[in-house]
Amino acid sequence: MAGSDSLVAEHHTEGLCYSSSMPNSPREALEAALRDPQMVDVSTIANVKVDLRYGSKQNLLGRDIYGGFQRALLHKIAAGKFVIAARLLAESRFDLKFLIFDSLRPHSAQIEFWNLVKGTPQQPFFADPATGSLHSYGFAIDLGLADSTGRELDMGTGFDDLTELAGPRSEDEFLASGKLSPLQVSNRKILRAVMEGAGFLQLPHEWWHYDALPAAEVRAGYPRCE
Ligand SMILES: [Zn+2]
Repeated sequence: MAGSDSLVAEHHTEGLCYSSSMPNSPREALEAALRDPQMVDVSTIANVKVDLRYGSKQNLLGRDIYGGFQRALLHKIAAGKFVIAARLLAESRFDLKFLIFDSLRPHSAQIEFWNLVKGTPQQPFFADPATGSLHSYGFAIDLGLADSTGRELDMGTGFDDLTELAGPRSEDEFLASGKLSPLQVSNRKILRAVMEGAGFLQLPHEWWHYDALPAAEVRAGYPRCE
């Protein structure tokens, strides 16, 4: 049924989340993505806690960019890997939960970030909207771990900490110099083992950020949520 498939695809790319012609707010784009069959809400997985920092003022911009939206969405391919990660975590550390800080981030939110940080010392840490972020395709997730009482595990820095200390690439060095404790590094490794075990890719500069597929593959093959 190639005909009906293409109709579905056409309808899909014209959906609110993917429309570049309609000026959506980030909240509207996220609400539209909730109804999109390509997107999966991973908030309801048993060992997942959601604390979208851009859906509150608890972020480095001090602004609620998502208008209070608190559902974690991923493209179905990324969601499939995340379900595996959640199972691996349940098997290895039944006492822990994932704590999701960000997942699908509409491009309209990326533009708001950029307008807020442009010309400030924070600018180098945000993706230029001209390039965009894998978060806007639903293929990236930012997360930490929480214990059974919901308390966040210490990873050595908070989410969106903009210092070198946040970078997995320098962990051994910071452990040797005492800037990261063995417990902080071991917490990061619990997270990394289950995420990489499920096929996610860790980037060198942020312990909380994981991509489900290489960036070039995502940009070439999937639509961006506007
Ligand atoms: Zn991220």
